[in-house]
Amino acid sequence: MNLWIKHPAAVWTGNDEAAPGGVVISGSTILELVTGSEPESAWDTTLDASDCVLLPGLINCHHHFYQTLTRAVPAALNKELFDWLVSLYPIWANLDEESIVASTETALCELMLSGCTTTTDHHYVFPSRLNHAIDLQAEVAKRLGIRAILTRGSMSLGQDQGGLPPASVVQREDAILKDSERLVKAYHQTGDGAMLQIALAPCSPFSVTEALMRDTAILARQHGVLLHTHLAETGDENDFCLETFGCRPLDYLDRVGWLADDAWLAHGIHFTDDEIRRMGQAGIAVSHCPSSNMILASGICRTKELIASGVHVGLGVDGSASNDASNMMQEVRQAFLLQRLRYGAAGFSHEDALSLATTGGAALFRRKDIGELAVGRQADLALFSLDALRFAGGSDPVASLVTCGAHRAEHVMIAGEWRVTRGELTHVDLAAVKARQRSAAASLLHRLG
Ligand SMILES: [Zn+2]
Repeated sequence: MNLWIKHPAAVWTGNDEAAPGGVVISGSTILELVTGSEPESAWDTTLDASDCVLLPGLINCHHHFYQTLTRAVPAALNKELFDWLVSLYPIWANLDEESIVASTETALCELMLSGCTTTTDHHYVFPSRLNHAIDLQAEVAKRLGIRAILTRGSMSLGQDQGGLPPASVVQREDAILKDSERLVKAYHQTGDGAMLQIALAPCSPFSVTEALMRDTAILARQHGVLLHTHLAETGDENDFCLETFGCRPLDYLDRVGWLADDAWLAHGIHFTDDEIRRMGQAGIAVSHCPSSNMILASGICRTKELIASGVHVGLGVDGSASNDASNMMQEVRQAFLLQRLRYGAAGFSHEDALSLATTGGAALFRRKDIGELAVGRQADLALFSLDALRFAGGSDPVASLVTCGAHRAEHVMIAGEWRVTRGELTHVDLAAVKARQRSAAASLLHRLG
């Protein structure tokens, strides 16, 4: 069965190709970009997209789903990263199975409703009762039908060893490595169309040991999976690295074997020109997280210098305790606004922002099958309706999405399956998801006493 997504109001492909007549989908892939008034291929059904803008599905490059349970917690408001973390660790130490399932459902539903078709998650909190957190997330991602790159995070450097997290949320390194290998073997898919992948993700320089960083890289390379961590997010982190490791964060990364083309970093803000040059040479990737960086007042990522040097730059919503939403289309607007503040009105366009969330994300995940509308690519699509008051009177339809503030997709397709139609999730009882999440959040805060 071929589906013609017919005559959108506008199409932004993410590349030099045009598709004014829409696209034809066959199975899980794009069969044709329609350049005339009708497709050249045969089609069985159509979707009238005349009031919608068609985009490649958005790709989220950094998140912590569990943090949707701790949005706007009073104790963590108005704090910068280290104080914010210290306020939240004792709450997160009480995560249980129900917290993981409810928060994963919530984050994934929120992401899909905002046009996201591929997301990662960085889960690094494993209290003793929660060794199988990633297994629970994998089950939810599969049930909801989103493309996911789940990372096996870790923390091993507790406060008693000079780290930031309390002892109750750190794990033994042999247990971390063993579980990482188990998850890669159980879930990691390769090749075009992979729906579930695993990456390995020690949390940050201030929460794991140097040995764990090295051993994780060795393990990831044995299995051909990507590496992920937070780096160069704040000035405090620079101070911590200089004091603890005797060098800046990027030198530390280099020393532990991570300055390479199989790693991506969350934030990547505080780099010197020379460090950016070295990152480009290495072919490393960075997820820009504008909302989080503004809320925690961490700084502004130098996306243009990074891209010019050869770094792959994607876009991430980051955890919902520092955003506090999981909305990829809003994040595109945030990137557009924040990057303009750095580069000027002519220095960063709405298309630059959309590129971070599409082609940039695909390059970050080293995926050639997603991130743009092109023949043979996965049928991951986001359509945004212009039939809302906020767009009334708008001229350029694609620019309107960003400047007028689109935030809810009309239709979302992932691997050829509709996951959102007419603004609603197709296979999910959203009222039940919200009720479950509220109850899980209340019980998590209650356990803190
Ligand atoms: Zn993060």
